[in-house]
Amino acid sequence: MKNRKGLLLISITTIITFLLWFFAGRAQGLVPLERVRHIVAGLALNCFFLNFLLSTRNKTLEKWFNGLDKLYVHHKYIAISAIALLFVHALLGDMLKTSEAVTIKTATGGLAMFLLVVLVGLTLFAKKLPYEKWKSTHKFMIIPYGFGLFHAYISSHIPLLTFSALGIWVGLTGLAGILLAVYSIFFHEKSQLNKKGTVSQVKRLSPNTLEWEITLEEPFQFSKGQFIFIKVFQPGIEDGAHPFSISGGDGNKILLTTKVSGDFTKQLHDSLVPESKVLIEGPYGLMDFSQGKKKQLWIAGGIGITPFMAYLRENQPDQKITLYYSFNGSESGIYKDWLSNYQEKNKQFSVHFVDTTSMPRLSFEGYTLEEDTSIFLCGPEKMTKSFVNYFQKNYKDTDITYEAFKLR
Ligand SMILES: Cc1cc2nc3c(=O)[nH]c(=O)nc-3n(C[C@H](O)[C@H](O)[C@H](O)COP(=O)(O)OP(=O)(O)OC[C@H]3O[C@@H](n4cnc5c(N)ncnc54)[C@H](O)[C@@H]3O)c2cc1C
Repeated sequence: MKNRKGLLLISITTIITFLLWFFAGRAQGLVPLERVRHIVAGLALNCFFLNFLLSTRNKTLEKWFNGLDKLYVHHKYIAISAIALLFVHALLGDMLKTSEAVTIKTATGGLAMFLLVVLVGLTLFAKKLPYEKWKSTHKFMIIPYGFGLFHAYISSHIPLLTFSALGIWVGLTGLAGILLAVYSIFFHEKSQLNKKGTVSQVKRLSPNTLEWEITLEEPFQFSKGQFIFIKVFQPGIEDGAHPFSISGGDGNKILLTTKVSGDFTKQLHDSLVPESKVLIEGPYGLMDFSQGKKKQLWIAGGIGITPFMAYLRENQPDQKITLYYSFNGSESGIYKDWLSNYQEKNKQFSVHFVDTTSMPRLSFEGYTLEEDTSIFLCGPEKMTKSFVNYFQKNYKDTDITYEAFKLR
């Protein structure tokens, strides 16, 4: 069942913001265009408050938005809405000719707008920027937000430093926005990336895939199918925290299986050694096979096999599971032999391999999905989305859980 609480949170705060600015503007006797200008600015400030809230990676919010990946999609569209609203606010200002002379009021608004356009533009369009650099641009978002809030307080035609409903709302969301931003920049990592472990085994499964075992100082609770963020402390390995699905282990030890896709994963593959220290944040993710129905269809693309492996390695399933494992050449089908063996020993489990170097691409055209089946999907974003669309279009109310290995 899709959780709609995230959308509800966005809708409720938007409606409250709209109504409070609307009625306060009317009570203040502002002309209609001026009232709209104030409402639009209020909605933009609310967007920033929401986005600072979403960036905390809070686990309740993760559930409300049906996963961190979907939460970040909302985050992106909220940022775009904020910029669009601020443009409308500036345009209305020009129409109302409020910006004839440069004063502290107009300067703070203009500066906030300029910085926001630069930063949001960078996050939206600089896709080629290395991920860590791209992510660090987010940290500066607090500066234009601060200017924007200050601008609202000094230039609003509706007094905000009052004990009115609007004054309290803007004060509370503004303060919360600043505190949440400070938390994300300075305290999130310290308070969340704090489970200590040591790399205890390293296996190179193929020329570009590594399986590594981590022994944790304290047992780690997770559902098989979830993912973590991990930071590795070894000279020559980039020190940012990266997300990986857990591919095995019971919590005292966990396994990760990583495929080379850029600098960090290449450094891991080329040089990771046992005894290196790590820090872990999580677990995150809503792939929980034990919560699925008695019949399950699993679809894995390439390295997207990892969450499924975590479950199979630790369980003898009592559900009827059918797995389609698509990969590109035998070097990518890293767990093919393991899965064939597992199939022989478990009557409940069947696996179909689709090696796209010698077979047509995996397709479900003409496939009949049995009633009461839960679908779990994990793989590259394009493949995952196309299968999700296909099943949602052809089977109304299908129970689908998916993870595309992408958070931007
Ligand atoms: C929920 C989830 C689970 C994943 N599970 C696995 C797995 O089991 N095995 C596996 O091999 N890969 C997995 N990935 C992908 C893995 O995180 C990236 O391949 C890895 O971070 C790439 O880093 P890089 O420096 O090698 O490459 P880069 O070239 O820096 O990054 C390639 C892409 O990876 C993503 N990425 C990079 N760094 C981060 C970061 N710090 N936080 C979020 N995304 C980032 C970005 O989309 C980026 O465009 C998973 C990703 C997600 C979101």
